[in-house]
Amino acid sequence: MTTPYPFSAVVGLDDLRLALLLTAVSPAVGGVLVRGEKGTAKSTVVRAVANLLPDVAVVRGCRFACDPAAPDPQCPDGPHEAGAPGVHRPAALVELPVGATEDRVVGTLDIQRALADGVKAYEPGLLAAAHRGVLYVDEVNLLPDHLVDLLLDAAAMGRAHVERDGVSVKHAARFLLVGTMNPEEGEPRPQLVDRFGLVVTVAAPRDPGQRAEVVRRRLAYELDQDGFAARFGGEEKELAAQIVTAQKLLPGVKLPDRELDRIARVCLAYGVDGMRADIVVARCAVALAAWHGRSLVTAEDVADAARLALPHRRRKDPLDPPGTDEEKLEQALNEAENDLPPDEPEGPDGDDDPDGGPPPPPPPPPGPNDDGNGGPPPPASNEPSADAPPADAPLAGDESPRGETAPSRTAGAAPAAPGSAFRPRTLSISHRGEGGHAGRRSPAFARRGRVIGSREPRGKLAGAPHLPATLRAALHRGARSVSPADLREAVHVGREANLVLFVVDASGSMAARKRMTIVKTAVLSLLRDAYQRRDRIGMITFRGHEAEQVLAPTSSHEVGVLRLASLRTGGRTPLAAGLRKAAATIATERRRDPRRRPLLVVVTDGRATSGLDPVTLAPLLTGVATVVVDCESGPVRLGLAGRLASALDADLMPLDTLEMRSAA
Ligand SMILES: [Zn+2]
Repeated sequence: MTTPYPFSAVVGLDDLRLALLLTAVSPAVGGVLVRGEKGTAKSTVVRAVANLLPDVAVVRGCRFACDPAAPDPQCPDGPHEAGAPGVHRPAALVELPVGATEDRVVGTLDIQRALADGVKAYEPGLLAAAHRGVLYVDEVNLLPDHLVDLLLDAAAMGRAHVERDGVSVKHAARFLLVGTMNPEEGEPRPQLVDRFGLVVTVAAPRDPGQRAEVVRRRLAYELDQDGFAARFGGEEKELAAQIVTAQKLLPGVKLPDRELDRIARVCLAYGVDGMRADIVVARCAVALAAWHGRSLVTAEDVADAARLALPHRRRKDPLDPPGTDEEKLEQALNEAENDLPPDEPEGPDGDDDPDGGPPPPPPPPPGPNDDGNGGPPPPASNEPSADAPPADAPLAGDESPRGETAPSRTAGAAPAAPGSAFRPRTLSISHRGEGGHAGRRSPAFARRGRVIGSREPRGKLAGAPHLPATLRAALHRGARSVSPADLREAVHVGREANLVLFVVDASGSMAARKRMTIVKTAVLSLLRDAYQRRDRIGMITFRGHEAEQVLAPTSSHEVGVLRLASLRTGGRTPLAAGLRKAAATIATERRRDPRRRPLLVVVTDGRATSGLDPVTLAPLLTGVATVVVDCESGPVRLGLAGRLASALDADLMPLDTLEMRSAA
C-alpha cells in the first residue's frame, strides 16, 4: 500500500498546478494537456491532484456514480428515487491505457440482453468510471483519433453517449480530463491540442537549488511515505478546502462586459481561429476569480487565463523563433488594454484595488475569510458557463473547515511573479564587525584587506607583521635590534558576510498584484545580491494572523528565490508577529553561530492591522542592525514605515530608491 505523493510537495511546475486546480474547480474549462519530456513528474502531479478532490457521495449500487442529491435522470441504473441512500468514496482517478478499445472507453452494450432486460445490459466503460473524478491519459498523442474525439466530446458535454444498432445509452460523465504527452514522440494533431482547454509545457527545473529540492523531497518520500505525507497534510487540506470554496463561488462569478470585451480583443489581436479560444479564456478567467475567492473577474484574471489558454492556439509561422507565442501574447494583452475605452468607476489602473471593481474595499478586509479580497456578494450571472456542465455541487458534509485557516505559502491567490532582478544598493551594518565570516557586505576587521593600523598581537601573530609599527616599537624601547616583543601585527579591514534576514509583508495591504510584483522584484534583487556577497539568508512573512518562517536561515539562495516566487499574499497585517519571529530567529542563529552578525531587512508599508503595535516590540530587536524598506505608495501616505524605522533605530529606505541607478 503506497501513500500518494502530496500535491503541495511538488516543487515548481506552477503553471501545471494552477491549470489542474482551475480545471478541478471548473471542469468546463475543458481539460489540460501537459507537454513535457519524460521525468518531469507530470504523472505525479496529475495523480496528486485527484487526492485533492472532495469525496463524492454516490447512490448505493449505482455503477454510474450518481449523486444522491441530484441523480442523473438518464442513468442506465436508474431511475433513482430522490434521497436514495448514498455512500461516500474518494473521487476516482481513472487511467486510460493507450491500447484501450472503444468498448473499454465507452462501455459495452449486449444487444440480445438489452432487448430482453433493457439497458441493464450496458457495461459501463472508463468514461463512467471517471465521472466526478479525474480521467488521465498518458501519451494521449498516441491514442487513435476516434478515441480522442470520444474523450474530448464527453469532457466538453459532461455526458457520454453510446449507440449500438439503434439502442442508445446516455449517462453523465463529467471529469477532469488530463492528457500528457512527450513532444519527442511526435507532435499531436493541431485539432487535438486545440480541443484541450489549457495546454501547459513542463520542463525539468534548470535551477540547481530547485533540482536539489526535488531530489531531497523524493528521497524523503521514499524513506517514509506516511511521515512525508503528514508533513504536507495541512497544506493539502487547505488546497482541498479552497477547491470546494471555489466550486461554490463559481456559479455566482460575474464576468463584466469590459472584461469580455478585453477577451475578444486579445483573441483577435493574437490571431486565433474561430471562437473556441474566447470561450475557453472566459471560462478560465471565471474559474480563476473563483479560485481567488472573488465573485468578479478582473483584468488580471483575463491576462492569466489568456496565458494558460492561448499560446497553443495561434496560427503559427514555422519561422517564428521560440518564445514568440509568449511575446505576441503580451503584445496582444497590451493592445487590448490600450484599446479598451477608459474605465470610469475603477480608477486609473486598479493598482490598489485587487478586485478591480467599485468601490475599493475598505482596508483591512474584515471577517474570517482572510484572503484580502472581500468581493461583493455573488450576483447570479455567469454567462460563459451558462451552457457548461455545472461543477459537482459539494455536499454539506464534504465541506472542510475553511474559516480561520492559517496563512500559508500555498493558500490564497496565485502568487505574483517577481520581475528580473536589478542591482540594489548595498545594505550593510554600519559599525565594524569582528570579521566572523569573510564576505562582501559589512565592514569588519579581517585577515586581509586595507591596513588601517597596527596592534600588539594577542598571543600568536595573526597574519602579517606591521613592519613600521614593529620598528617603531623597537626604537621606542631604545633597542638596536628587533625582539619578538616588538612585533606588531597589521590591522586590516575588509568585508564580512552576514545573516540577511528578510521580513516581508505579504498581507492584503500589499496584495495588489502589481505592488507585490514590485516588492518581490526588490526582494529577489536583494537575494541575488546576498548570494554574491556570500551571506546566509532567511525569510519570514506575515499575513492573516501570524508570521511564518518560509525560509530558515540557509546559504541556499535558490531555495530563497523559489520561496519568494510562490509567496502568497492577502489578509491582515500582523507586523508585530513578523518582528517577534525575526527576533526569535536571530536569537537561535546567534546561539548557532555567534560570530555571524544579523542584518534585518523589513519590507513593509508599516501598516499593522492585526496584533500589537509593532513599535512595542522594538526592545526585542535592540542592537540588531535593521533596514526598513518602505513600500508605501499612492498619493496619500501615512509614513508608518518611518515611524517603525525610528522605533527600531533602523535605516529607512523607500522601495523606489533601492535600485542602484547608474550615474548616467
Ligand atoms: Zn445512477
